[in-house]
Amino acid sequence: MVYSNIQKNYDVVIVGGGHNGLIAACYLAKAGKSVLVLEKQDTVGGAVVSRQLFPGIEAKLSIYAYLVGMLPQKIISDLDLNFKFRQRNPASFTPYEKDGKHEGLLISNSDEAITKKSFEQLTGNSEEYQNYFKFHQLQKSLGKHLWHSLLEPMQTREEIKKLFQTEEEKLAWQLFIEQPLGIAIEEFFQSDLVRGLVFTDGTIGTFTHPHDSSLQQNRTFLYHIIANGTGDWCVPVGGMGKLTEELVAQCKKNGVEILNHAEVTQIEPEEQQATVKFEHKNQESYVSGRYVLGTSKKSNVQLIMIIIVGQRKGQL
Ligand SMILES: Cc1cc2nc3c(=O)[nH]c(=O)nc-3n(C[C@H](O)[C@H](O)[C@H](O)COP(=O)(O)OP(=O)(O)OC[C@H]3O[C@@H](n4cnc5c(N)ncnc54)[C@H](O)[C@@H]3O)c2cc1C
Repeated sequence: MVYSNIQKNYDVVIVGGGHNGLIAACYLAKAGKSVLVLEKQDTVGGAVVSRQLFPGIEAKLSIYAYLVGMLPQKIISDLDLNFKFRQRNPASFTPYEKDGKHEGLLISNSDEAITKKSFEQLTGNSEEYQNYFKFHQLQKSLGKHLWHSLLEPMQTREEIKKLFQTEEEKLAWQLFIEQPLGIAIEEFFQSDLVRGLVFTDGTIGTFTHPHDSSLQQNRTFLYHIIANGTGDWCVPVGGMGKLTEELVAQCKKNGVEILNHAEVTQIEPEEQQATVKFEHKNQESYVSGRYVLGTSKKSNVQLIMIIIVGQRKGQL
């Protein structure tokens, strides 16, 4: 189809101004490309936004995503973002009732003695704590070998598996990659409360069960335990919205155009470019891009990080 009403041509048109779209936009603009971000909402940031929730109180709170663990420091440095995060302590607190008393399992990430004492209070002995400690040690090899791969070309399963060399690393591979997570959790822990706590990292957002043979619980678990290479999830200073603010500032500095109230409804790949159709102020509009980057699986156009390259292949 030939469109006669294209309003402008870009090197790259990005569908969705969530943090992934904004980060991609910054990198591309810094590399000298002309970039347009189309965002259907009135603000950008997607799930990475903060709001002032209490009238008269200046503090802004993250309203969706609220912890940072999967944002590599390299991206912060490359894009010159003024964005900091702090370790949260304790790591977790799980309330429970025992003998009619309200107690809580406290996992500290600064003092092992606190964690040990809290486990002993729950179970009456130190066995569960020792197993928790061992489980945690085994997890570490995953962060060590998988974290860096997030910013590298994707490797095959076999290539990654070869990195797990020691006996402990091979055991970790078996426990966390090869079999449903529930098997390892039940092998290591007796207390239902501890089993539930450990499985939290495998269940968030997946709504599945520990023995799901699709292993989607294992994948969710991996995302959580490799964060920052250590499994540490941190609290952003200034809330998640601070990251979006910084990204928008860098986008503007590097000449990225951002258009809000612009919902993409169709993408038409052609020989040398793709035409992107969107609704803006109740009007149908068109732009073209040599490349189109879609960042949202919820987008109407059903794109999941797909780069449409017209009919061509090659470097941008
Ligand atoms: C409640 C909740 C809590 C979470 N907590 C955390 C957390 O603590 N830490 C963490 O790391 N992750 C967390 N996540 C996951 C994280 O928020 C997402 O992985 C991340 O936001 C994905 O970023 P994105 O830019 O790819 O997509 P999104 O943030 O979803 O942004 C996509 C953008 O595209 C826009 N868009 C969609 N369709 C179109 C269209 N057709 N045309 C134009 N624009 C369109 C949307 O309006 C949106 O602004 C959480 C998610 C949720 C829902």
